Amino acid sequence: MSYLKSWVDSANSASTDFPLNNLPYGVFSIGDEAPRCGVAIGEHVLDLAAVESQGLLSIGDSPLCQDACWNPLMALGKDSWALFRERLIALLSEGSAEQARLQEYLYPLADAQMHMPFTVTEFTDFYAGRHHATNVGTMFRGAENALPPNWLHIPIGYNGRASSVVVSGTDVRRPWGQLKGPDQELPAFLPSRRFDLELEMGAIVGSASNGPVSVDEADAMIFGYVLLNDWSARDIQAWEYQPLGPFQAKATATTISPWIVTSAALEAFRVSTPEREFELLPHLKDTGPMLYDIDLTVTLAPQDKPATTIASTNYREMYYSAAQQLAHHSTSGCPMRTGDLLGSGTISGPERSMRGSLLELSWGGKEPLTLDSGETRSFLEDGDTLTLHGHAQGDGFRIGFGDCAGTLVPALDDPYAR
Ligand code: CA
Repeated sequence: MSYLKSWVDSANSASTDFPLNNLPYGVFSIGDEAPRCGVAIGEHVLDLAAVESQGLLSIGDSPLCQDACWNPLMALGKDSWALFRERLIALLSEGSAEQARLQEYLYPLADAQMHMPFTVTEFTDFYAGRHHATNVGTMFRGAENALPPNWLHIPIGYNGRASSVVVSGTDVRRPWGQLKGPDQELPAFLPSRRFDLELEMGAIVGSASNGPVSVDEADAMIFGYVLLNDWSARDIQAWEYQPLGPFQAKATATTISPWIVTSAALEAFRVSTPEREFELLPHLKDTGPMLYDIDLTVTLAPQDKPATTIASTNYREMYYSAAQQLAHHSTSGCPMRTGDLLGSGTISGPERSMRGSLLELSWGGKEPLTLDSGETRSFLEDGDTLTLHGHAQGDGFRIGFGDCAGTLVPALDDPYAR
């Protein structure tokens, strides 16, 4: 995709997350006004509910931008997504005849409060990064049993909770749970002491399916992507996870970035999945470059202290693509619905500095991390703010995701002591 120039000046900066090539979809509000659909362009957001009401954006009979969520457009499928995007590009391109009319619907992003961009129908979390799975498996089960026997054949995952997915900027409260250390005979109910982040990408299902879909069909069903921090209580997880996998350890919160970066905007950044150790069965085989070259970083800022970059990695480090995860998800006949969110699994790379969780960065607490402030961290402390950043680098522009941030606030008093 070559670089597109907009009449919105700030969109033409090489460092903006939101050039005309991006056009990510979000839901925003200004002051006390109601939340509404918008698209980010440079340092502004264009109010698409208003633009649609003016008759400048319709691609069919039904309104698509009046529900303060993007599910209505998501449900229409790939051809409609392309038409809608084409229309937006025309409206915001340099020389657009509508510039004067649109100007009054532009708001500074700095004034915008962001909301959940879509209604999450269901949330599934995968475990599809090989470096992460190897690191965690080594810590939990030893190096010889690090990867479970199924791992190189299917993208393994579990059904999470849609109800606890929150938008960037939402505080996350340290949870209580049942903990049992290896040296303790019996478990105790306590606030988690090993609360962690997971650096992931979230893939958002647009068109629904009813029955098994191929990898190519799955790829075409994905509307777009967000950054995703899958907060994890490692001590709750270690006690509860066998044999059915994580449950309460992953149910406190999952934070997503507020802008849906569309598959169309990322198309030019496709890269191949890594070499396969075992050939995948035909229904999961790669059909072309299925991952994206997206640089990812995580910063940690203790309360009232500057942020330290604690990890830098890339989405291309994944073993399975979102399309393969979605295809696998459907093999049993499981219907997939508009608004289903698929977490990639933690994205770690081969180097220590590329590990996408504190569990890995501090190697289970054995090698605490030193922050720029001089403090150390094995796991998160109350008041820590975690921010995920991500962008695909084009020639003179970049496709960015905006921040995915959350602050850990202290546990409440024992919720059952009343
Ligand atoms: Ca996860």
